[in-house]
Amino acid sequence: MAGTTCDLAIIGGRPGGYVAAIRATQLGMSVACVEQEEALGGTCLRVGCIPSKALLESSERFVEAREGLGQHGIGVGEVTLDLAAMLKRKDQIVRTLARGVDGLFRKHGISRYRGHGWIAAPGKVVVEGNEPTELGATHILIATGSKPSALPGIAVDVDRIGTSTEALSYPEVPEHLVVIGAGYIGLELGSVWRRLGARVTVLEYLDRILPGMDAELAGEAAKVFKKQGFEFRLGIRVTGARVEGGRCVVEAEGHEPLQCDRVLVAVGRVPNTDGSGLEALGIETDRRGRIVVGEGFATNVPGVYAVGDAIPGPMLAHKASEEGIACVERLATGCGHVEYAAIPGIVYTQPEIASVGKTEAELVETGVAYRRGAFSFLANGRARCIGHTEGWVKVLADARTDRILGVHIIGPRAGDLIAEAAAAIAFAASSEDVARTPHAHPTLAEALKEAALAVDERPIHV
Ligand code: NAD
Repeated sequence: MAGTTCDLAIIGGRPGGYVAAIRATQLGMSVACVEQEEALGGTCLRVGCIPSKALLESSERFVEAREGLGQHGIGVGEVTLDLAAMLKRKDQIVRTLARGVDGLFRKHGISRYRGHGWIAAPGKVVVEGNEPTELGATHILIATGSKPSALPGIAVDVDRIGTSTEALSYPEVPEHLVVIGAGYIGLELGSVWRRLGARVTVLEYLDRILPGMDAELAGEAAKVFKKQGFEFRLGIRVTGARVEGGRCVVEAEGHEPLQCDRVLVAVGRVPNTDGSGLEALGIETDRRGRIVVGEGFATNVPGVYAVGDAIPGPMLAHKASEEGIACVERLATGCGHVEYAAIPGIVYTQPEIASVGKTEAELVETGVAYRRGAFSFLANGRARCIGHTEGWVKVLADARTDRILGVHIIGPRAGDLIAEAAAAIAFAASSEDVARTPHAHPTLAEALKEAALAVDERPIHV
């Protein structure tokens, strides 16, 4: 077994790990990155964020071409679907971006090891694969990401009953898709297949969709999605699903079994730390299998660090990247920081749903007095021009200091608009700061300015 040494060995070439690798080399460290998949980029790039966004874009255009162009005075012939071509485009986007990460590794001189990496001892990573290797490292960073949660009673058969990975590549549009879980994945991939013609039924354990997001935002989203044709069955605990004669049967407590063509299990994700050597090393995990970290993302074993989906916090690619950067900056310079209050969460449906900071429920729960200002896209000129007037922006500001505590948006391009809100929170801006910032006219971003003005009860276009 050949051996090599480096300053930092990273297990996982995913948004936490590969970004940390690049930043570490910028800071002068020698870096080795171990990834078992052929392509770098992890779930996000290979079977998550990127391919789902490609399909969301394509399916949205399909709907637009079929139903949305007439109002612009544009007539088109029969609009048809070439699903194979749509899937091919998605795969091509993934390949191109993965090659881009390979290129970044070459540019920054990061040594990439293909294989399964595990920590044999502090300072020692073993790579199992075609070319077994042993890496000696001053620091080891675990950035192994997450995998879909299993549900007892459901055997994912990777064909009819599958996870988000399979739902990115169904070979035909299902007649009836049952989605278990009304979270990020259920709503995004449910949207893709509904737009392409499937009947979509979403079974959700809780009495609401999008748990964790602002309740008013989720309520508005549920209304809009129902109008689009989503069928929600809330307060349902799914207990089993099986394939019978080429069809699926889904069972839920106290309900008649449901028949469908395909089942998408989207009930959350769990850390992907199997076989990383955590137990033998005595690395502390919590009851959900997440690695416990302290200051600087240090585990309880000296020299071993962890970031991203493998540790507590929202399972979001950008959160992992921020942590990866902060972790290696701290190792190299003694300082590194993640602005957790400003991490946005986005559901890329139509309309998009985006949140940053505290929800109203969290503020009530913690007894923080706040003022709220809301503004509807119905009164936004640009929203009228692009033909997407559904939704609104809500700004929550501290009643005493006016500091912005949370911003919640449902509407066109909410995922892009939330960036300004995240910057405002990161810079401890007040609603008055945003209200007094010139926003170009006519833009969707004016809705955020108006919502900020509404905190002080002085919106202009209401
Ligand atoms: P999620 O946590 O967003 O939603 C899972 C849903 O399943 C919850 O509403 C939960 O109540 C429900 N559920 C759990 N057990 C159930 C049962 N037995 N019967 C019925 N419902 C049940 O999880 P997800 O949608 O699987 O996504 C996983 C993670 O991936 C998320 O944490 C998210 O951070 C990330 N993700 C993010 C994006 C994005 O940023 N746009 C997109 C996809 C995934």
